[in-house]
Amino acid sequence: MKIGVAKEVEMGERRVALIPDTVSRLVKQGLEVWVEAGAGEQAFFADAAYEAAGATIVTDTAHLWREADVLLKVSPPRERADGQHETDLLHEGATLISFLDPLGNPGGIKRLADRKVTAFGIELIPRTSRAQSMDALSSQAGLAGYKATLIAAAALPKFFPMLTTAAGTIAPAKVFVIGAGVAGLQAIATARRLGAVVEAFDIRPAVKEEVQSLGAKFVEVKLEEETVAAGGYAKEVSDAAKQKTQEAIAEHVKLSDIVITTAQVPGRKAPRLVTGDMIAQMKPGSVVVDMAAEQGGNCEGSEAGKDVIRNGVTIIGPTNLPSTMPVHASQMYAKNLLTLVQYLIKDGVLMLNFEDDIISGTCVTHAGEVRNQRVRDLLGEPVAAK
Ligand code: NAD
Repeated sequence: MKIGVAKEVEMGERRVALIPDTVSRLVKQGLEVWVEAGAGEQAFFADAAYEAAGATIVTDTAHLWREADVLLKVSPPRERADGQHETDLLHEGATLISFLDPLGNPGGIKRLADRKVTAFGIELIPRTSRAQSMDALSSQAGLAGYKATLIAAAALPKFFPMLTTAAGTIAPAKVFVIGAGVAGLQAIATARRLGAVVEAFDIRPAVKEEVQSLGAKFVEVKLEEETVAAGGYAKEVSDAAKQKTQEAIAEHVKLSDIVITTAQVPGRKAPRLVTGDMIAQMKPGSVVVDMAAEQGGNCEGSEAGKDVIRNGVTIIGPTNLPSTMPVHASQMYAKNLLTLVQYLIKDGVLMLNFEDDIISGTCVTHAGEVRNQRVRDLLGEPVAAK
């Protein structure tokens, strides 16, 4: 069986799906690994290192895609500069494992189904302890949360820690993190390490203890409705609950030097939590990092990929933060993929047991069908026969 590692073509994507260390593990297992020339270059993994790990370096992109039995990628397949769509380069019956953005790009999923590709969307790995080592959403969100705090610290015209110096005492920066999921918790931990005083809010009250265990204060808002959906994710709440949340967080936003927002509701536009009025109340020089800028934004006025200044407040809308740390992002993603590949392939054969929740939850297309019901709904396709 041939495992192919493609060079990413998405603008700004510096990660690579496998690093040399993970290649050698697959090779030891008897799998053949083909790596596109230069695939790891942007993440500082040279072709020579892949070769030393036992991979074959392939310079002909189309040949690599056509021959791979299992193609590994980071970004969803897309049209290449030469006009060819990556999906069309795969042979019928091939397997693709990658981020696929299934809910954001159902048309791309349909294309994979039409090509008869067996596609696994890495963002659909169940958030269970059994699947933890395959959970790329978590590994990449951790990197993003860390980097968001560093970006905020670099943009803030102040110190983070409290300092007592001969030139006077410096008060610590006040950081408010909204959304304490994987990214938010890492943002909190990083801000604490840098010496800031940190507060956090999340619509899921269950995260209170995690926030407190990192040395941050949890901002409590009592809502009279269920805020947690299946799988432990946040639910979209009523307008009344949104209003109450906004009123409760306004005071904390106003007093913060830095606000980092990470709130997401899977498959929906990001909730709007920080309003223009709140921004107007912040001290000039304060910084907002809106990690949900690409999903519509938690903060009014944020723009994906841009820094916007409003009333002296810098609102940063970073995109693809994991890609800004391509070495560790690739290392962690590769480990997630390695675990999944080893789980799927036994003795050189792809085992598709759809009774298994990891396989059935993650496999989006197989044998010409879109298997994921939420994607089918978006495509207007009827419920799949069992
Ligand atoms: P996410 O990226 O979907 O959302 C980020 C955070 O935003 C979440 O904590 C969410 O509650 C919060 N949020 C949503 N709407 C909000 C609002 N209106 N106001 C404030 N906060 C809001 O979340 P995630 O980091 O991917 O984690 C989602 C869930 O998955 C969590 O329950 C987490 O504990 C769980 N999880 C489990 C495992 C595991 O068991 N292996 C691994 C990772 C995550």
